[in-house]
Amino acid sequence: MIADSSRQVFMVIEQDCVVTLHYTLRDDAGEVIDRSSSERPLTYLHGRGQLIAGLERELQGRRAGEKLGVTIAPADGYGEYDATLVEQVPRRALKGIASLKPGMQLRSRTEHGPRTVTVTRIVGDLVTLDANHPLAGKSLNFEVEITDVRQATEEELAHGHVHGPGGHAH
Ligand code: ZN
Repeated sequence: MIADSSRQVFMVIEQDCVVTLHYTLRDDAGEVIDRSSSERPLTYLHGRGQLIAGLERELQGRRAGEKLGVTIAPADGYGEYDATLVEQVPRRALKGIASLKPGMQLRSRTEHGPRTVTVTRIVGDLVTLDANHPLAGKSLNFEVEITDVRQATEEELAHGHVHGPGGHAH
């Protein structure tokens, strides 16, 4: 929103704004876990749970042009690590899966419905499957640069997602 040629007025991030940002996510060891690419920043509709709760809360009230570094605790990120979601199964229970190896992700039917499980260990005939989110129990260290904040269109609000660059086609 440009008020005149010499002075820009930036919208504040609030419920139902469309926000565009660049981010880098690191774990506590400083390893990059995820980042937006320079050509494709992340665009989302604020306040609709499209980002993890802790990050949305930190972005509330910020403006385009701001850079911030925030650390999100596991409870506000991908949840605490739940040891009861780890199970060991005999390899034969997974027959039909070629070249099973640690790090592989599988779709699994569980009593709580379908979920993604990660193969974390294979020892002899025993395969350890972990249904925690790979980032469960981890602090999330974000560096964020907000590049644009705008009002959502009526259509975007009705659909509940962003249209145009970085968003849906319809
Ligand atoms: Zn749409």
